[in-house]
Amino acid sequence: MSIQRTFSIIKPDATERNLTGAVNAVIEEAGLRIVAQKRILMSRREAETFYGVHRERPFFGELVDFMTSGPVVVQVLEGENAVLRYREVMGATNPANAADGTIRKKFARSIGENSVHGSDSVENAAIEIAQFFSGNEIVG
Ligand code: GDP
Repeated sequence: MSIQRTFSIIKPDATERNLTGAVNAVIEEAGLRIVAQKRILMSRREAETFYGVHRERPFFGELVDFMTSGPVVVQVLEGENAVLRYREVMGATNPANAADGTIRKKFARSIGENSVHGSDSVENAAIEIAQFFSGNEIVG
């Protein structure tokens, strides 16, 4: 076991419904610590860079439109095996397949509007954190 950091986004469908606190409660109850957090409007360029790996996918335009449609809350989470732990806490990409108690099962509207993002590896977590936070904004 090791202490890791992962990158999280509370997406526009969740901020629109005033669910930031409810999502954060699930995160904290799962033993993850929110060590950085800010509410921002993502620019198209930021969203296109962030989801660049999906550029060729048919849903890419829809995804960028969605992520820039309203405020998001970007976060750094810290804890034991935080990357995998947060993926478990989020649940499956499609809420129809998400396990009970997960954030996506509780709150997501659809496979696209699925309330949260979490990094899929330690390497990507470091890249994603650096896209949105400088070192002195993260206080563990
Ligand atoms: P994640 O790691 O569980 O977030 O899933 P992916 O990396 O596969 O996809 C990234 C994000 O793209 C998802 O969280 C969704 O918001 C969006 N997405 C994935 N598949 C679809 C889809 O079929 N349609 C739409 N509209 N969005 C999708």
